[in-house]
Amino acid sequence: MVQVNQHYLSLQKSYLFTDIAHKVAAYRKAHPDQRVISLGIGDVTRPLVPAVIEALHAAVDEMGRAESFHGYGPEQGYAFLREAIVRDYANLGVSLGPDEVFIGDGAKSDIGNFQELFDDKAVVAITDPVYPVYVDSNAMAGRAGQPLDHGRFDRLVYLPCVRENNFVPEFPKTAPDIVYLCSPNNPTGTALDCDALTAWVEYARTNGVLILYDAAYESFITEKDIPHSIYEIEGAQEVAVEFRSYSKLAGFTGLRCSATMVPHALAVSDGRGGSVALNGLWNRRQCTKYNGCPYIVQRAAQAVHTRVGRNQVLKQVAGYLDNARALREALTAQGLEVYGGVNAPYIWVRTPGMDSWAFFDELLNRVQLVCTPGAGFGLSGEGYVRLTAFGTPEDTAEAIERLKTF
Ligand code: PLP
Repeated sequence: MVQVNQHYLSLQKSYLFTDIAHKVAAYRKAHPDQRVISLGIGDVTRPLVPAVIEALHAAVDEMGRAESFHGYGPEQGYAFLREAIVRDYANLGVSLGPDEVFIGDGAKSDIGNFQELFDDKAVVAITDPVYPVYVDSNAMAGRAGQPLDHGRFDRLVYLPCVRENNFVPEFPKTAPDIVYLCSPNNPTGTALDCDALTAWVEYARTNGVLILYDAAYESFITEKDIPHSIYEIEGAQEVAVEFRSYSKLAGFTGLRCSATMVPHALAVSDGRGGSVALNGLWNRRQCTKYNGCPYIVQRAAQAVHTRVGRNQVLKQVAGYLDNARALREALTAQGLEVYGGVNAPYIWVRTPGMDSWAFFDELLNRVQLVCTPGAGFGLSGEGYVRLTAFGTPEDTAEAIERLKTF
């Protein structure tokens, strides 16, 4: 009998959302007359915008005609989309070529897959609390080492992001090989400003560290001093890969499209005294294991880069940010300490005097609202809960009324 990849056995069972679902189901059974509202979901609730729907319809029609049918597309993505992305970067003052952009079927798979390019002895640093994909994909590859308590691993370097350091990760004592940074951040909803990101880029350049930069929530940035791309920082193209997604920008969580930027300037050690460009390696990996994001989806994504499409999706994002602002105000009025929600759809709330699961229970039992306990995102998430602004306006308004009585 074949033996399983042992590293899969070291993965922590993903209990967080199952535990939440069980608690909510038990509450509903005991209180069938109460309507529970979820502020725990990380999925969008608003439909695709008209410009995207139009592009999808047109692309479907093309697929039904022999002269405009598309079979296998380029593994890296169609030029029309890669060029549209490059033009948007140019608006930020960032110069990238279309061949430095790779279209994928979601940032989760792009980020999860990218670690394949590195040696299994590479030392990986992650912020804590964290989007779990960075941890688990490295654990699957054997790079995280042995599991410890609280879902930690003995070979990962943890960079706590807590109110005491303003949710800005500090440099570790010894430089790792790779660091994952996520800004705006899931789950804390905070974002790295220009100074903090510049410091990280300098640190990476000085210490030969590769930054894997997750910018999935870039479109939620409202403050001027928050970079929309790590490449706005001088020299970042030599040290950083950037991941972007259409999921939260344009409601593509079900449609699936993403972009990964791998600048030509980015090289890593070949382990033999030389260096090797990451762009060519990622291209090789994608050509071997991926046959491209569907044509119709890429046409839909292209519509997001038009003036009309851009305005439509940004209006939706603004709607979610309105929810975030209203939730922040309601929570603050209750005397709670609230972070995030200004440049991100996530609000990170302190749970003084109780742990994050106890706060979860209070919120559910007293006002029938569901949040996500921060401890589920890592040890440093203990003492916080995450609320999301992705609810419908009606549910969010109702949640705010209930919070007034909390
Ligand atoms: N990165 C972060 C920080 C996320 O929170 C998510 C989704 O929730 C993703 C990446 C994945 O996005 P996608 O839907 O493009 O796979």
